[in-house]
Order: sequence, then C-alpha cells, then structure tokens
Amino acid sequence: MKVTIVGCSGSYPGPDSPASCYLLESDGFRMLLDLGSGSLGALQRHIGLYDVDAICLTHLHADHCLDLCGYHVARTYGPEAPYPVVPVYAPADAPRRLAAAYGMPEEPGLETAFDFVPLAPGSFEIGPFTLTAGLVNHPVEAYGFRVSDGDTCIAYSGDTGESHELVRLASGVDLMLCEASFVDGPDLPADLHLTGGQAAEHAAKAGVGRLVLTHLVPWNDQATVLDEATRGGFDGPIELARCGAVYDLA
Ligand SMILES: [Zn+2]
Ligand SMILES: [Zn+2]
Repeated sequence: MKVTIVGCSGSYPGPDSPASCYLLESDGFRMLLDLGSGSLGALQRHIGLYDVDAICLTHLHADHCLDLCGYHVARTYGPEAPYPVVPVYAPADAPRRLAAAYGMPEEPGLETAFDFVPLAPGSFEIGPFTLTAGLVNHPVEAYGFRVSDGDTCIAYSGDTGESHELVRLASGVDLMLCEASFVDGPDLPADLHLTGGQAAEHAAKAGVGRLVLTHLVPWNDQATVLDEATRGGFDGPIELARCGAVYDLA
C-alpha cells in the first residue's frame, strides 16, 4: 500500500497544508480518507482529478469533509461529465449535511456524483482494501479506521480524545496516522483531541510500527508536539506529518 499525505492541517487549512486528506493506493485502486478544506486542490498534485475510486469520511466536521462540495461540481459538470459515481462511506447524516453545505435540496443532493454508504462499526470491503471502522471519542459521530490491503496495514485516528477503540483499530499496524491536535497544558477539554504524548501512548499500547503525528493545528508549535510525543513511551519511529509525504509500505 502506498500512503500519500494530501493534507494534515488540523481544524483549518494552514499555510503549508490543507486540512485532512490521505490518499491510499493499492493494486491501481485509489481511496481517500477524508476530504477536508482545501484538500481537493492538493490532491491534483498526486493523481488526476477524476482518478478517485472511493472516499471514506471519518466524521462530518468541515475540516474532514467539506471539499466534497467542490468535488461534486467537478464530477457533475466537468468537461466529460457525467463521470462514474464514487462511493462515499460516511456517517449516515452525510447526504443531508453535505447537500445543505452545498446549497442543494436533499433530493437529489450530491448523489449525481456520489453514492453514499452509511458507516457503522465493522468491516467493509472496498476494492482491494478491507476497512474496519470503529467509533472514537469526539463530540459527533466519528470513526477511526484500520485499512489493510492484505499485505500492509495502516490506522487513522480521525479526530478523537483518548480511546480504547483507537488502540484496538491500530493493533500491530505498519503505520499509524494519529492526530496530535493539542499541546499539553492545564484544562484541556476531555473527549475531543489528543496531545502528542497521548498519541504516542496509544501507539505504544497498539504496538504499531511507525507513528506519524497529524491533524497538526497551525497555531501550535509543532516542535513541541513532536517533543511531547517522543516522551510518550513509544520506542518506534515518530515523525510529524508533512503535506506531500509518501509512505510506500510495500
Ligand atoms: Zn478535525
Ligand atoms: Zn472533528
């Protein structure tokens, strides 16, 4: 599996990265995890605009899903439209929420471009991938993902506070993309996001091969986030996500 970080900025696009979007490729199949603000532009540095075979959304906060609106325009009205409908695995409210964001009536909503498949905890076969979704710890319906292509395996936290489910999803994966939105300090809100140190604790419990800290919020000092992670008890490689980074796990 090849993993490309299309966007890794937390909560809103930063000067160096769009919001959350990860491209997974295996056996010629291309799947996106999240399509957050600004990511549709950066995606075109890596693959053609129409070369997406499936999209999976962890949750319906804007920084994880909003570029589906622009992508609907591209696939519905592009020069060779109509393009094949793309399956979108997402929380059940996605058709209504994204139609409202677009300014479209619920019928037809965005369904000229996308075939929405409601997520629930469990496993889905998507092209060559097996995606396992588990509910994580965030104020809205939010999933973490484990994705395997049979040879290699990754986990993606989405947005979450401390979560046993995230440890389960990430158990033994080659690469863990784990959010690290917070810098440690007093009065951090519970059940919302992780610090770098907490990301490392989850990676250690799960026994992952490599930890990539992501959902990096631009107002934080990222060196501090990384430093906290290196003191979190995980003894494998740790690095900060970087827009455009590629991990070829094969
Ligand atoms: Zn977020
Ligand atoms: Zn969120």
